[in-house]
Amino acid sequence: KKIVLSAIKPSGEITLGNYLGAIKNWIGFQDEYECFYCIADLHAITVRQEPRLLRKRVLEILAIYIASGLDYTKSTLFVQSHVPAHSEASWILTCNANMGELSRMTQYKDKTAKLKENTSISAGLFNYPVLMAADILIYNADFVPVGIDQKQHVELARDIAQRFNSSYSDTFTLPEAKIPENAAKIMDLQDPSKKMSKSDDNQNSYILVLDPPDVIRRKIGRAVTDSVGVVNYTDEQPGVKNLINIICAIKNVKPDEVVASFEGKGYKEFKEYVAEVIIEELEPVQKKANELLTDKSKLEEIYTEGAMKASYAATKVLRKMQKKVGLLPPV
Ligand code: ATP
Ligand code: MG
Repeated sequence: KKIVLSAIKPSGEITLGNYLGAIKNWIGFQDEYECFYCIADLHAITVRQEPRLLRKRVLEILAIYIASGLDYTKSTLFVQSHVPAHSEASWILTCNANMGELSRMTQYKDKTAKLKENTSISAGLFNYPVLMAADILIYNADFVPVGIDQKQHVELARDIAQRFNSSYSDTFTLPEAKIPENAAKIMDLQDPSKKMSKSDDNQNSYILVLDPPDVIRRKIGRAVTDSVGVVNYTDEQPGVKNLINIICAIKNVKPDEVVASFEGKGYKEFKEYVAEVIIEELEPVQKKANELLTDKSKLEEIYTEGAMKASYAATKVLRKMQKKVGLLPPV
């Protein structure tokens, strides 16, 4: 069986971008592939997090994973920090990555540019893609389903794997990014030139998977459009284009069909429709997630089991890595 790995970091609450660009795309892999779906808490702490909130979000994400259709009896659902092999492999890979390639990562440049002046940039933020390479490579993942923003990191993981394989000997499978067709990049509702991100300061810039219906209606109502006033699918109208993409990703329809059905109609009607489509999609997920969150011990059981399965797989590859670089066998 081919192996799939992907993750979301608990650096904020799960957005519609994460849901459409990542989670929804993960569901379909479960029958055909062996899937590992992770909650990347070690990645979250590359920027300062409120500890209590961080712990709460990890459980919330697990509940959303399951409520969205990830099946813990088929896939391994686990928390990154519960599997120490991620950190251990990350160090070995750090010693096989170079400063130059890490400096070229656009996410690092974007995230450091956004930090307020005089805020120090953690070395963890710089090393982020190496930890992500470890996440992927210690499972020998073939496919990594991510949004387009993470494509560069998956390619780096592939480069590092290739280098390690040729420096030592064949160790890692070379991973490949799998990008969803319609939801490769859901844009920020307030600034459709940048991607929707859960760590954004402006709550109006994103829809959260757990946003109640009235909040979704309000946020979509406030979404930035343009002065053209006609529903078109074009780069000249990035706000409207983004809303069309959201509909297409949820309804599995083509942009042309959406444009055709709004011929002669205005943005108000269009936005009302967008909001209803989102609400209809998220309602069952919210209901199930909120139900799951009332039974913390069940969630603990699921992630404990997941950690055991993930550790078993990851440790095998880690041991190979350690041996190849010349570390003594563990005592
Ligand atoms: P942060 O702002 O903290 O980086 P994020 O919203 O970018 O949060 P990540 O945890 O970095 O979320 O990414 C998790 C997954 O969601 C990745 O596969 C990423 O490609 C995908 N993703 C994130 N934002 C979007 C988006 N706007 N559209 C499509 N996919 C997205
Ligand atoms: Mg991100």
